[in-house]
Amino acid sequence: MTLTIENAAKTFADGTRALCPTNLTVGPGEILSLLGPSGCGKTTLLRIIAGLERPDAGSRIRFDETDVTGLAVEHRNVGMVFQSYALFPNMSVRANVGYGLKVRKVPAEERRQRVNEVLSLCRLTDYADRPTHALSGGQRQRVALARAVAPRPRILLLDEPLSALDAALRDNLRDELAAMLRQFRITAVFVTHDQSEAMAIADRIAVMSNGTMLQVGRPEELYHTPANAFVARFIGNAMPLTGHMENDVLQLPGGQLKLPAGAAGKTAYIRSENVRLDQTGSLSGTVETVTFSGGHFRLAVGGVLPDAGLLYLQHPGRTAPETGSTVRLTIDPSDLIFLADQTSTHS
Ligand code: ATP
Repeated sequence: MTLTIENAAKTFADGTRALCPTNLTVGPGEILSLLGPSGCGKTTLLRIIAGLERPDAGSRIRFDETDVTGLAVEHRNVGMVFQSYALFPNMSVRANVGYGLKVRKVPAEERRQRVNEVLSLCRLTDYADRPTHALSGGQRQRVALARAVAPRPRILLLDEPLSALDAALRDNLRDELAAMLRQFRITAVFVTHDQSEAMAIADRIAVMSNGTMLQVGRPEELYHTPANAFVARFIGNAMPLTGHMENDVLQLPGGQLKLPAGAAGKTAYIRSENVRLDQTGSLSGTVETVTFSGGHFRLAVGGVLPDAGLLYLQHPGRTAPETGSTVRLTIDPSDLIFLADQTSTHS
């Protein structure tokens, strides 16, 4: 199913503008993530798609050719998975998954078949007869997903479905959830504030801030060609190199950086994975902090950027320079991202 959102906006009764007029199309079987910081309007948009929130006059929501704007949630045939799974704790996994089919009066034999099929796809067959209170967080999350897809909804809406799980489990389930969503081939909209989750799961990501959709694109598009400073920072923490530019040379407190032609009037951004320790590097600074995160060290280097700003870098070696030592750094100009000077897109 194709979801079309036209001019969808929402101002709450107290005057809060949660969503500015928004347009978006999500194609059949596509997984789209709404990504942004707390309060940016993600949940409001998801609730508008579901039919749980009435959008402002002039908004249009279409499921394929059908205008569903005025339809109540129970007539939209949407599947929903929320942060709190809202399972029936004393009912078996099977009964939870079959619940939506029973409500829709699907005949018993067909119901049994469809539940078995979904249980198997979600790797829940072995737990089918357990009450859901006796399951782990990850298993409950799979039951919630199975329950949402069993009635074959036209669209699946997920609101931070992994956020109740602890970090290690979340990482594992992220890939598993991505794989399951793909095999269902149901158009899905997935809300998260976690960029790595959005990147792992979504075909496309819509970055939101202050009720506005700033950029929509494939994860690698947003990473390599962010449309503005907010997206550059939010996706992969790009750091601005604010310095004085003279003849395509950026003058920073820690040294000079030759920039490609045409950079004038723009701000250069760099990510920590693209800053390297290099004894012949043109920049120098002082190591302020060193943290080890398994695959690499993360260093904060002072004295390179103006205004006591810290430049972060990832260092993959087995040892790292000590705190307080002077280091030289290099940045490949081809890794820089140039953006027109900052507009008011902060939230
Ligand atoms: P979070 O990640 O914290 O859930 P979000 O991006 O989903 O945030 P929304 O829940 O959509 O954000 O809220 C967007 C804005 O609308 C916020 O400023 C919020 O306080 C406001 N808001 C949400 N619901 C209501 C309501 N019923 N009445 C008034 N304001 C509301």
